[in-house]
Amino acid sequence: MRYRRITALLAASVLILSGCSGFSGKRNQTYTDTLFDTVVNVRIYDAADDSVLKGCEELCKKYDAMFSRTAEDSEISRINNAGGAPVEVSEETITLIEKGIYYSEMSNGAFDITIGSISSLWDFKAESPSIPDAAAISDAVSHVNYKNIMIQDNPVRLLDPYAKLDVGAVAKGYIADRLRDYLEEEGIDHAMIDLGGNIIAMGSKLDGSDYNIGIQKPFDENGTPITSVKLSDKSIVTSGVYQRYFEQDGKIYHHILDPKTGYPADSGLISVTIVCEKGWLSDGLSTACFVLGYEDSLPLLETYQAEAVFVTEDKEVIVTDGLKDMFTLTDSSYEQVEE
Ligand code: ADP
Ligand code: MG
Repeated sequence: MRYRRITALLAASVLILSGCSGFSGKRNQTYTDTLFDTVVNVRIYDAADDSVLKGCEELCKKYDAMFSRTAEDSEISRINNAGGAPVEVSEETITLIEKGIYYSEMSNGAFDITIGSISSLWDFKAESPSIPDAAAISDAVSHVNYKNIMIQDNPVRLLDPYAKLDVGAVAKGYIADRLRDYLEEEGIDHAMIDLGGNIIAMGSKLDGSDYNIGIQKPFDENGTPITSVKLSDKSIVTSGVYQRYFEQDGKIYHHILDPKTGYPADSGLISVTIVCEKGWLSDGLSTACFVLGYEDSLPLLETYQAEAVFVTEDKEVIVTDGLKDMFTLTDSSYEQVEE
């Protein structure tokens, strides 16, 4: 008898729990914030309890504190400021750094997770931004080499005491994946996670049709799209020169840097958009492919079964085969070309 009462109580608590996890509550709720140096937008289409949105906020704030490059006490800053001494960090930071090393290896150093010594010289958001001193840039280049990261289980050590990690090109993709995992655990099937253009489309729209996702028109302040891409259950990430840049003497200086020169990557591209399964993969690939340029990106895309949209300085748009049926160019000042 007593046993049966306990079972009944248990059944009731399971019901209440599932009530909190996405099966009741309001539909179409959004969490918006400014974190990771960008605008965060998580839209949950399924009915969800307020606690689910709160959970997204807590996760975002946790990672913002953990991975920040500017906050002195973030785990990344502690490694960067240790002057080559070993630093104990969380397992998540280790995972993020390992992903950064993975990209650096697969792109043969076009992507380099130790680009911090160079990127910290460039301030694209300054009141009147300027090109850093050439000698400082060449000195910084000599401290960029992902092979100087030593991970012995945990701690992490930078073998070059002047090397600096910069997780700016991989953190948002990693965090988007963690948000997706969390929402899945909460029973959410339909949501749009957008961390400043690092997008994960979870499931489809509620009516089962694909989401329609635009790629921003370069340099357009209003965020007008030049394309629409139809997809479900994928991540889509764009790296573009127009996200952070300044202009000097008619030349654009932007935030995607070439580790070999210390100057903005000059690969003839304005933006690269990657579409694939995992957020962290698309995030790293978009930056790597931007530095590599169209031709040299193709083997990488093939290896990782990723699709891409390249927008060139000549206003040409190149779309890889697997994306063509889902892709529409909506701006007539750009031309879709076959390569
Ligand atoms: P966004 O941060 O605008 O989404 P990306 O994902 O392409 O764009 O990341 C660009 C950021 O990554 C830069 O702001 C800088 O912090 C870092 N970064 C720049 N160049 C490289 C590079 N070659 N390898 C690794 N990280 C880079
Ligand atoms: Mg990136």
